Amino acid sequence: MLRRAGPSLRHFLLERKSSAGYSLCSREAKMSRPVQARRLEGIDKNIWVEFVKLAATYSKGHPPLVTALAQLFEKVLGRELDPMTNVMVTVGAYQALFCCFQAFVDEGDEVIIIEPFFDCYEPMVKMAGGTPVFVPLRPKAPKDGKLMSSADWQLDPAELASKFSERTKAIVLNSPNNPLGKVFSRGELEVIAELCVKHDVLCISDEVYEWLVYDGRENTRIASLPGMWDRTVIIGSAGKTFSATGWKVGWTVGPDRLLRHLRTVHQNSVYHCATIAQEAVAQGFQRELALFGKPESYFVQLPRALQQKRDLLIQSLVAVGMKPVVPEGTYFLVADISEFKSDVPEVPNSDEPYDYRFTKWMMKNKGLAAIPLSAFYSEAHKNNYTNFIRFCFAKEEATLKAANDILQKWKKEKTSS
Ligand code: PMP
Repeated sequence: MLRRAGPSLRHFLLERKSSAGYSLCSREAKMSRPVQARRLEGIDKNIWVEFVKLAATYSKGHPPLVTALAQLFEKVLGRELDPMTNVMVTVGAYQALFCCFQAFVDEGDEVIIIEPFFDCYEPMVKMAGGTPVFVPLRPKAPKDGKLMSSADWQLDPAELASKFSERTKAIVLNSPNNPLGKVFSRGELEVIAELCVKHDVLCISDEVYEWLVYDGRENTRIASLPGMWDRTVIIGSAGKTFSATGWKVGWTVGPDRLLRHLRTVHQNSVYHCATIAQEAVAQGFQRELALFGKPESYFVQLPRALQQKRDLLIQSLVAVGMKPVVPEGTYFLVADISEFKSDVPEVPNSDEPYDYRFTKWMMKNKGLAAIPLSAFYSEAHKNNYTNFIRFCFAKEEATLKAANDILQKWKKEKTSS
């Protein structure tokens, strides 16, 4: 198989161009090797696939929804999209991720995951028989007196490059990133894209927080960079886009040559997503398409409202002595809690990390909830990141006010003690 061949043979074959016309050396740097996992062999042509193809209706999604998604992503990506072949609706972004790993990852394939990461990537890669290869975003100390920003957490390009090998099948990119709120800059994405093209690697781009970007920041899509459309699956979620997590409507956008394999997994597992939820999301998108870029658009209003909530939470956390990392996107905020070590009792005979102990202590003694950041790291790296916790600020006014009151009270207690 082409993808198992040694570097010289592979290079030679790629130079010659495959019969499908894909070549690493072509200007578009299209993918040359088979993308689908071996588990899909022979199951892409069952009776349902064949006749559903003929019927060409609900299998890839409710027509009004795939049509609206195609129209929206045409605007965002600046390329024509076919709603039936370039879009597939899933049961939340979770199912979209699951379809990607099952469709592309074989036993022994490596998948690069950038840390900190949304926790399901690691088990999903393993369930597909793959090996996760982790590379951390490394925090740089903030300039004097300034709060750290999620932009200060960066990949070391040389370290990232060292993780790509003959065995690398895909990289998972999550921008804006959960838990940090980091929005990868165009320059950072170009480094990742160049490595994907050079090593003929797929990009699973989890963009569920795509509309939640603050301070007028640009959100570059990796699929729009040279050579990337052909090797990228974009993943989105109505749960995040319309603040309706329970509806479990997600989607994938990408080239047919990748999505056809996702359809095989989808048709042989979930098969269909609840039409009523798809219709509701379609109506949301139709409204957004009509208002695209206008102040009344939800995509404009939601980040504006969340940015205010973010700024309020930052102020309150600073007041009690935490050091928030200002997120450029998402509705999560990571805060440095190293100042509190003397407040949190050690647990005898326990190797529980400090961020876990702190979070439990805070929940019990202050009534404030968070998640320890080290939960978003691999086993090998989690001990290096135990001084942070993650808050969520996508809360109703009353809940945020209650959290703010708790923090005000905490501040008073600190100043009076
Ligand atoms: N990706 C990321 C980064 C997420 O944070 C989440 C939800 N927390 C998902 C995917 C899953 O989204 P959904 O609820 O649409 O399944």
